[in-house]
Amino acid sequence: MITGLPYRPCPLVLAAPSGTGKTTIAHALVERFDHFVFSVSATTRRAREGEVDGVDYDFVSREEFRGMIENHALLEWAEVHGNLYGTPRRNLEAAQDRGEHVVLDIDVQGARQIRKRAPGAVLIFVFPPSAEALWGRLTARGSERLDEVKRRLRAGRKELEEASHFDYIVVNDDLERAVARVRAIVEAESHRPSRVLNLEGEVARLRHEIDEVVERSEVEGPVSG
Ligand code: ADP
Ligand code: 5GP
Repeated sequence: MITGLPYRPCPLVLAAPSGTGKTTIAHALVERFDHFVFSVSATTRRAREGEVDGVDYDFVSREEFRGMIENHALLEWAEVHGNLYGTPRRNLEAAQDRGEHVVLDIDVQGARQIRKRAPGAVLIFVFPPSAEALWGRLTARGSERLDEVKRRLRAGRKELEEASHFDYIVVNDDLERAVARVRAIVEAESHRPSRVLNLEGEVARLRHEIDEVVERSEVEGPVSG
């Protein structure tokens, strides 16, 4: 009896205006569910208080970042709010090998590049419930000065233009609901025929079994079970 077919995992891209909560959602997925892994990006930004090198980001110098670009180590990269950020290619390869959904917390420019370079990726644009909520989250985080908060809000206003190019829109009003929505999307995406490993083999096996059942019923009468 088939209880679930083996499937290829989904690289999952979460993009959103800064402060919407995509990092919080990404970490919640990894902490709560099996088979989700966070894609640790490389960045030239300085670490915020509490951030851990190699866990939140690989914090690198501009020179090191340039080296990664030259060595084709990055699947995508972009300049965001004055700093360089990029996704190491090996993050996707390693997750694929281990059968894990890799979660990319990246900006819209990066999402556009992933669309081209990893066609199986699922792109989710996370919406804030309102501008007031976004302002509140950005200021409550306390990691940026007021002029930087304003800069991020203006950038977010621009990024919203890209929303229609994504596969899904998820509103992060309540964190629990938002995480459940993303989880449901991954669950559905995992059941696409294109993600089932060896679908042809599974179909051939079932067809063969059907032939056997029919043959047996002709010899022995109706088959039970
Ligand atoms: P992003 O990665 O999109 O820039 P973060 O994940 O850093 O945003 O979240 C920004 C702030 O908003 C954080 O302080 C986080 O705890 C808070 N936050 C995230 N989701 C919610 C939510 N659904 N309701 C209220 N606050 C939230
Ligand atoms: P922050 O400095 O707040 O951690 O991140 C700033 C922005 O950079 C966020 O929109 C975040 O998603 C994005 N970002 C983080 N990592 C990457 C990455 O590897 N590639 C791209 N393109 N953007 C990234």
